[in-house]
Amino acid sequence: MEVDVKELFSLKDKVALVTGSTQGIGKAIAYGLGKAGAQVIVSSRKQENVDETVNEFKEEGIAVHGIAANVGKEEDIDKLIKETTSKFNALHIIVNNAAANPEFGPLVRSTTTAFDKIMDVNVKAPLEIVKKAYPYLKHGGGSIINVSSVGGLTPEPQLGVYSVSKAALVSLTKVMAKEMGRDNIRANVICPGLVKTKFSEALWKNKAIASAALQKLPLSKFAEPEEMIGIALFLASDAASYCTGGVYTADGGYTI
Ligand code: NAP
Repeated sequence: MEVDVKELFSLKDKVALVTGSTQGIGKAIAYGLGKAGAQVIVSSRKQENVDETVNEFKEEGIAVHGIAANVGKEEDIDKLIKETTSKFNALHIIVNNAAANPEFGPLVRSTTTAFDKIMDVNVKAPLEIVKKAYPYLKHGGGSIINVSSVGGLTPEPQLGVYSVSKAALVSLTKVMAKEMGRDNIRANVICPGLVKTKFSEALWKNKAIASAALQKLPLSKFAEPEEMIGIALFLASDAASYCTGGVYTADGGYTI
């Protein structure tokens, strides 16, 4: 047996799109995929955030292109995929990472406006992105990585609709894997635990909540965004060539 293990994790000649990649988990994953050799497309709603990340990545020697797009808007998804595929004539890896959670509280107080926004960004967008990218994913052998949450496996308190959306994303990933396997497209989902980002700062910056959570957490620490790179790189690369439909926690042992 002769296997070049470094080559197995290499993303040379791959084109990778990461949504919500100008800060937090998405930015770390885009950086990791870029450092592994992929041409990365970074994207988020605000042009200035995109420009800043593109400049930062270029200084790091990463092949990067930026496109501002709000994945909650169908016309923006259209632009994101059209611009990517017309520029690179390929799309191999999609990381559906952008998410929304505009509310915190019990289900009975949730609003239909928030429900629609959460579902549009967290569930509908990943599906629409994959539908539009499908001919390219099929052509080149694709890897879809959806970023869910431990809340998609066991509902988080006060995060009811968000948890429902993340559970739907787990299911969506499995359907994609089942339907698209024969097209040489793999789909997997990552369920992070608490990662220290802006999105979760209300939890980790609150001393009472943080110390109660840390006491129960086997690894006794919250994750840094960079700690999500390894699992994403594995799933994006040929190292995961037989992995599809998988649900991967990266949660410090939270779900044990
Ligand atoms: P974050 O630090 O707040 O970063 C979010 C990124 O997404 C930013 O680049 C933001 O930039 C962009 N974004 C937000 N809404 C968008 C939209 N509608 N369209 C396109 N881009 C958008 O968030 P994060 O904590 O890294 O979360 C990333 C993913 O991990 C989410 O799916 C989240 O549910 C999941 N997750 C996070 C945690 C955690 O503890 N942090 C735990 C479990 C799961 P702009 O403002 O420029 O749009």
